This record gives sequence, C-alpha cells and structure tokens, in this order.
Amino acid sequence: MVSKTPESLEALMAQLERLPGIGPRSASRLAHHLLRVPEADALALADAIRAARERIRPCSLCRAPSESDPCPVCADATRDRTLLLVLETPRDLTAVESAGSYRGLYFVLGARLSPLEGVDATALDLAGLAARARHTDVAEVCIGTNPDLEGDGTALAVVEAVRGVQVDGRPRITRLARGLPTGGQIEYQNASVIADAFDGRRRVEG
Ligand SMILES: [Zn+2]
Repeated sequence: MVSKTPESLEALMAQLERLPGIGPRSASRLAHHLLRVPEADALALADAIRAARERIRPCSLCRAPSESDPCPVCADATRDRTLLLVLETPRDLTAVESAGSYRGLYFVLGARLSPLEGVDATALDLAGLAARARHTDVAEVCIGTNPDLEGDGTALAVVEAVRGVQVDGRPRITRLARGLPTGGQIEYQNASVIADAFDGRRRVEG
C-alpha cells in the first residue's frame, strides 16, 4: 500500500495554495522547502506572520497598516495637513513615500472598483474618506488612483464621496495626471514619474 501525504503536510500545502499567485505545484514546492530548512528558519516565518498580524492595524486617519495609531506619517507635524492624497492600496503609499517628494497626508481606500471581479463601492472606505475630507484642515483632495479603467471608475466614486462633504468648493478635488502612463501602475513607477504626476495634477471639477 502506497503511503499517503501526511495530513499536516496536506494542511500546510492547502494554506500556501490560498496565497495569491500560488498554484498547487508552487504550494507543494514551498511546503517541502519549509520541511527541509532548519526548523528555526521555518518557524521564523510563522512568527513573522503572527507578529505582523498582532501588531499591525489600519491607521485610524489614513487606513495605512501601522504599528502605531496614528501612523508615523499622520503623526508627523512637519507634513502638510491641508493636502490629502487618495490611493488604492498601501503599496501605492509605500511607492509615493519612497519617491520622497510628497509632503502631504494620505488616505488609502484599500481596494479599487472592479465590477468584473465583483468589487463594488462597498469595498472602498468612502465613508471614512468623506469623514476625513470634511476635516477643516483639508483644503485639497488629490486622487491618486491608477490611470486605467478600474482606477478611473474608482476616481469617480472618490469625486462623488468628496463632493458630498464640500462646503463652498472646499476641499477642492484634483487628480494626478502628467507622468503616469495610461495603464501604468503607481506601485511600479520611479521617483521622478511620481513627482511629475503630482506636480501636474489637474482639477477634476469646474
Ligand atoms: Zn496614518
């Protein structure tokens, strides 16, 4: 009788296969790798996952993952508090921060509208954004969604949410423009492209 795969190994492979971009073959390869390396190395991965999940929460102001609340960016008194850059994901925030030219604050939507993938407006924290944009400090909301179909749809939802809290046209609404290639992803742009896109932002409304 041929021996079956041990139950715990099956369970490990099943968990790995749930990760984005990991198919059954990769899951099997990774699981066997984790069994082969020194036990301490494999458990360090488990510990890192546990620590990150326990310590990291969304910042109550910008929704970026952070170990402190507010996060270091929102707590930084030298940042321009009149300016709010709205991004799709925390990875976009990391890209803009590494570019180093932006000195305002952020709001991370957490997702992008994608009707084909069943992601509707309920996946975006538009109520949180509206509450944030209503704050008297905020003079401008700049939309930094990606320049593609889903990003454009998401931008429209952002405009609608912010318009709902505007008083005498404040905060004004702008969108990143120049520099970002159509279909490009903010996450993968270099520093100068992001700086150009911000400098060239346009007003969304008349
Ligand atoms: Zn924050």
